[in-house]
Amino acid sequence: MNANPTIRRIAIFGSTGSIGTQALEVIAANSDKFSVEILTAHSNHELLCEQALKFNPNMVVIGDEKKYHDVKEALSSTDIKVFAGDKALEEVAGIDCYDLMLAAIVGYAGLRPTLQAIGIGKPVALANKETLVIAGDIVMRRAVENRVPVIPVDSEHSAIFQCLIGEIRNRIEKVILTASGGPFLGRKPNYLVNVKREHALQHPNWNMGAKITIDSATLMNKGLEMIEAKWLFNLRPEQIQVLVHPQSIIHSMVQFEDGSIKAQMGLPDMKLPIQYALSFPKRIPNKFPRYDFKKVNTLTFEEPDIRTFRNLVLATEALNKGGNLPSVMNAANEIAVYAFLRNRINFLDMTDVVEKTMQKIPFIERPTLEEYFDSDGEARNFAADLIQL
Ligand code: NAD
Ligand code: MG
Repeated sequence: MNANPTIRRIAIFGSTGSIGTQALEVIAANSDKFSVEILTAHSNHELLCEQALKFNPNMVVIGDEKKYHDVKEALSSTDIKVFAGDKALEEVAGIDCYDLMLAAIVGYAGLRPTLQAIGIGKPVALANKETLVIAGDIVMRRAVENRVPVIPVDSEHSAIFQCLIGEIRNRIEKVILTASGGPFLGRKPNYLVNVKREHALQHPNWNMGAKITIDSATLMNKGLEMIEAKWLFNLRPEQIQVLVHPQSIIHSMVQFEDGSIKAQMGLPDMKLPIQYALSFPKRIPNKFPRYDFKKVNTLTFEEPDIRTFRNLVLATEALNKGGNLPSVMNAANEIAVYAFLRNRINFLDMTDVVEKTMQKIPFIERPTLEEYFDSDGEARNFAADLIQL
């Protein structure tokens, strides 16, 4: 039972990441509206404990079991319950003690806890796009069956979601997903082949976790987002267009069947879509900097360079073909990105690893959840072998 129904109790899965820490800033600024019920982290136990001491959640989970005793000891003066390991992560997500899950774990690891939340009827504020790329049909079907709202946190999808409010009976002609183009906009393969990790980690407009920053540099992020949009908004592949907009002021747009286009705009600051997802359907006031038309008064748009950023072609193939292909693409990409981050492969190799894995793993048209998990595992093994990890 929620003792104070005016306060929304939030479970943050992935609280030590870029999204998780920004969500805690939003919560700290609105302590009359939100409380923290669950915090989880993979290995950063120091930050997890610091957050727990500040926000006093009911429970914390540390993914890395070796850190359990450190966390237990650091929180020994409190009555915060401490759990460790992947299994605990899933189990805690299934405890009926919170009102909304913020799914802010990165990658495949976010899928199972999110499914648990949906399974017990908890609304999900979804940052973890990989969840929908891997098993979007099953996730969204279960959400509908359990009447669970899935509220996007990804800025593009939050924009589309906001544009669709009040439009329930109106047909969408297409959505236009904007892309900043990343740090290598305008570059060609002969440049990209020499790009190093440090360089690729510098994003012009957004400050994010390492994996999504690399995905933004390769444009795989936009590929994942096309598939995320398909499932969130029930779109056909041909209704999804990617447009490069380097200023990142228009976060995405919806064109309706009368030709009218709605856009959602603002400065590139993830705290805004995070706050909106936490407080939905309400908007709450804040002191975030405002976009000033006099300062950035040129908004430009261009077609993405798909010859250079071939990940967009691969993602379009996965989007069109469906089945287990998006999950295979995602798994191979996770392996390739981590290999690049460890300086094991070069920038352009990432796309080759994804492409070869997509060609190799047998296609399944309508996978079960188990088959999605299996495809993920097979693709990871194949990609890791290719890289000789
Ligand atoms: P991050 O790397 O900064 O943080 C990831 C969080 O997940 C951390 O708390 C980490 O402890 C946890 N985690 C990582 N691996 C785990 C595992 N195996 N098991 C359990 N927990 C694990 O990532 P981020 O940038 O905050 O991104 C989180 C998600 O949100 C990603 O799916 C990303 O695509 C999406 N997203 C992020 C942004 C952004 O601005 N950062 C924007 C849109 C969408
Ligand atoms: Mg995005």
